[in-house]
Amino acid sequence: MTISASAVSDGRSSREGPPARDDICFVAGQRESIMWHQRTIRFWLICLVVACVLPVTLAAGFLIVHSYRQNTAFVGHSTVATARALIQAVDAEMYGVQSALQALATSPHLSSGNLEGFYGQAREALTVLTGTNIVLTDPAAQQVLNSLRPFGAPLPRHGQPDVVRRILETGDPVISDLFRGPVVDNWVFVVEVPVLADGKIIYTLAMGITPDRLSGILRRQNIPPSWVAAIFDSTGTIVARTHAADQFVGKKGAAEFVQRFTEVAEGSIETTTVEGIPIFSSFSRSPRSGWTVGMGIPLADLTANARQSIAFNAATAGTMLAIGCLAAAMFGARISRSIMRLSAPALALGSPGLPSIPVTDIIEIDEVGQALVRASQLIALREHERVQREADTREAVVAKQVAEQANRAKSEFLASMSHELRTPLGAISGFAQLLHGAGDALARDRRIRYTENIMTASEHLEHIINDILDMARLETGHVKLDLETLDCLEIMTEASRTLELQARKSGIVFTVDTSANLPLVTADRTRLIQVLLNLGSNAIKYNIPGGWVQLSAIPVGSMVRFIVRDTGPGIPAALRGQIFQPFNRLGAELTQVEGTGIGLALSRRLVLAMNGRIDFESTEGEGSKFWVDLPAADEIAATSAKVATPLPPTTPLARNTVLYIEDKIPNVELMHGVVENAGGIRLLDAQTVKDGIAIARSVKPDLVITDIHLSNGTGFDVLQSLREDPATAHIPIVALTADAMQANMNNMKRVGFDEILTKPFKVVELVNLLRTRLPNEPNPLKADC
Ligand code: ADP
Repeated sequence: MTISASAVSDGRSSREGPPARDDICFVAGQRESIMWHQRTIRFWLICLVVACVLPVTLAAGFLIVHSYRQNTAFVGHSTVATARALIQAVDAEMYGVQSALQALATSPHLSSGNLEGFYGQAREALTVLTGTNIVLTDPAAQQVLNSLRPFGAPLPRHGQPDVVRRILETGDPVISDLFRGPVVDNWVFVVEVPVLADGKIIYTLAMGITPDRLSGILRRQNIPPSWVAAIFDSTGTIVARTHAADQFVGKKGAAEFVQRFTEVAEGSIETTTVEGIPIFSSFSRSPRSGWTVGMGIPLADLTANARQSIAFNAATAGTMLAIGCLAAAMFGARISRSIMRLSAPALALGSPGLPSIPVTDIIEIDEVGQALVRASQLIALREHERVQREADTREAVVAKQVAEQANRAKSEFLASMSHELRTPLGAISGFAQLLHGAGDALARDRRIRYTENIMTASEHLEHIINDILDMARLETGHVKLDLETLDCLEIMTEASRTLELQARKSGIVFTVDTSANLPLVTADRTRLIQVLLNLGSNAIKYNIPGGWVQLSAIPVGSMVRFIVRDTGPGIPAALRGQIFQPFNRLGAELTQVEGTGIGLALSRRLVLAMNGRIDFESTEGEGSKFWVDLPAADEIAATSAKVATPLPPTTPLARNTVLYIEDKIPNVELMHGVVENAGGIRLLDAQTVKDGIAIARSVKPDLVITDIHLSNGTGFDVLQSLREDPATAHIPIVALTADAMQANMNNMKRVGFDEILTKPFKVVELVNLLRTRLPNEPNPLKADC
């Protein structure tokens, strides 16, 4: 069964929404894995079982061994006590016999020498003493009488002459070791006492006792049948035995055991019986007789209990281990399975959606599962926050870029606008100063030309300002259009006048195709001309030296298409989308081509406002084709194009020669006006850097005045070329620029321009400059002109 993560989450917390940071507790740690430590849970559980069972088993084993030892010690004590009791019983038996013999030794028959009488007395005593025989021996160890033989019958010597000798030496009774009695012809031992007469030992009196009599003592003890009890004489010879007495009486006991009981009076030893049975044997030796009683318990009996306990313990431990290991394996497998069931949800962490957590019967694993759910929620939350942050950052970056771009575009626009404004303003200001300075002295034709120049420049200035204002109005949607029915050819002809002039100055061939039969169009006359002028002007500006531009128009459906073709460098496909953006000059701002970057944007808005379309095609390196579609009106008209009139030439000869390099015709006109007014100065002009340098090298003028931003180069190029050439290096060079920024002016000064004048210049300043810089100039100019 599974429950959804959210259900688990809800069950745990009553709070709504994603978990807070405090709700989540991560146990972070880097697991340093040592390969040999890595085992399954099952393995560790089995280790746990072994760790639990093994000490218990070892403790039980220890207790068993301890108990065995204690038991053995106890058995040792009790069997030693039994052996002691037995040897005391044996001693008592001997002592009884000894006492009886000592009483018999005091018989008057012996002191009177009536041996026959004593013989009878001895035989009578035997019936009470239950001995084998009674023997009287003289000090020479010769038997004197033996109750087993008729009185007077020949007798052998004493079977144990040593016993006789000891009695003679000590005067004390002696108990012999076991020997084979010569008369009895059987295993026998004797209790022998001295017979005294007048304080002297005259005989020894002995009673022979067979081992049977002692066997009775052992039997009476009722020892367990598997136990062995034996009586040994002082030499370690078996005198009596509970088991196989016939076989072993008269034989030596086990050497190890005999050795032991000759060393100590009492004790226990693990040894083997004469039959070779391992036994635990206790013994007690009589200090009087030197005899020993031994009690042997087969080790098999003694260790039976311990072995049983050990076997039981081992069996129990083994069973416990087996059951424990089995249980551990089962539980281990169960835990493993439960843990493994978390793998999939754990792997699914971070993927969209909450993982489904299985319910297990292990609380801790369930808690881990719930932690996974919360971790998943936290990851989702963090992911969401991260995405949000990234989006915010992206937006902020984009907004910043847009703002920066707009800022840059605005700055560039302001820079270009200022430049564009300065050019016509310079012309207006300059010609106005000329008119003012010359007063009535100025020839009429010149006055007219100056005035026209002022008017043209004013118009240009007005156009620029209007463009900017249009742009601003279009931005806010406040443009007033005067839509009327227009003759296309007439419009094209009017636009051509301006364009042709511009093309000529730029060395571009300009043509107008007026051959098509075109319908009238509905448009705002001024705006349409403005658009065509913009397209045509661009086609001239962005062209190649010697290139051409064509203006044409064709009917396209219900529209008239005005087309401007050029042979310029074309527009890269990558920049296609940016061309109608306001202030975007597609990199042209880095070139010498002047512009504001608003022409096309403005044109597009105007065309759209006139219900038309504007678009273009362009192939890099080949040229561009811009067109404007406008709705056709009903009337049809055709008009031939008119061609613009060229500018009138000037330049009188004079003593000093000044070369003016400038590509803007009004500025050139103004300079001519100033110089003509001054008189005596020949003014040469060039519109490109190349031409300027060429003229300077061939004519070697007295002064060069150059604009900074020129077609195909700059005033800096002029400066550098003339300075590098020794023939022209000495010629003073004046920079006349509209760029009035202090930094740029400093730069011009630094690179070596002799003077810097800013546009619009003051005529008086220029005249003063000419006066100072021209060597042959006899001060013909008036300082206040
Ligand atoms: P500008 O004042 O810079 O000419 P426009 O809005 O008229 O501004 O034109 C925008 C830009 O489009 C120009 O700066 C120029 O890079 C490019 N462009 C316009 N017309 C042409 C053309 N005929 N050939 C190549 N590039 C052109």
